Amino acid sequence: APAVFTGTDVYQRSFNPQEYLREFYRLSDSQGQPNTFLMENLRALRKMFSLEGLSGDTLIDVGCGPTIYQLLSACEHFQEIIALDYTDQNRRELEKWLKKEAGAFDWRPVVEYVCELEGDREKWAEKEEKLRKKVRQVLKCDVTKANPTEPVSLPPADCIVSTLCLEAACKDLATFRSALRNVGALVKPGGHLVMVTVLRETYYAFNNQVFSCLRLEKNVVEEAVEGAGFDVRFSEVQPCPPGNACADCEAVLSLVARKRASIS
Ligand code: SAH
Repeated sequence: APAVFTGTDVYQRSFNPQEYLREFYRLSDSQGQPNTFLMENLRALRKMFSLEGLSGDTLIDVGCGPTIYQLLSACEHFQEIIALDYTDQNRRELEKWLKKEAGAFDWRPVVEYVCELEGDREKWAEKEEKLRKKVRQVLKCDVTKANPTEPVSLPPADCIVSTLCLEAACKDLATFRSALRNVGALVKPGGHLVMVTVLRETYYAFNNQVFSCLRLEKNVVEEAVEGAGFDVRFSEVQPCPPGNACADCEAVLSLVARKRASIS
């Protein structure tokens, strides 16, 4: 595990989006072994976005990184998507895919897999186009700020999704709790939070770089979500197979919560 917390300065300086994608977002590795971590997360996302009430006009993705997998089932249920991330190179990498630029990551196998889960593998190109049309803005954010998109103020969304971001972005539990409140303010009362979080992970590594991770337990995440003004509707833990040198996560928590009506 890294001795120190790797903050936004480290992300901006040394997070390589292309290497990250190569390490974690291929459906199978160079030996042909399936990427069960990714496949399980895609399954969980499909399940969560199929729950009643998970639809509306706007969806905000917090800490999107250079990835789109977290939006593949989501984009069937929302009209407009805004993606947010701290790191310039990650937002740029996402834009490359959105604009079909040369050298963009090939998400096709992942999109096909999700289409298969949804019943028709042949719809992958249609889904890619749908998602490209729906992502309207890619903006800088810092989840540790009271208004994460400062100086931009976004209208509250119907839903926020955040995958593998807060545990990476927060140096301790107090910061994690306040980041959830900051992010929670981006959603309307009655709207939803969809989260995928690793449990008991202290680091992840790729490209000879190690990034710190806040070690979380299921109940701690749920309590922080409740403390940010949400009621947990769905919470499921999927164990991670051990022996992965790229990260020491023990399990993945998939969670859906609904924001309580504000009392005023
Ligand atoms: N959501 C993607 C990326 C996760 S990697 C996925 O599921 O794979 C963690 C991401 O958190 C990185 O893209 C990094 O730039 C972002 N990040 C780190 N600190 C942040 C902060 N303070 N505010 C917003 N994003 C942050």
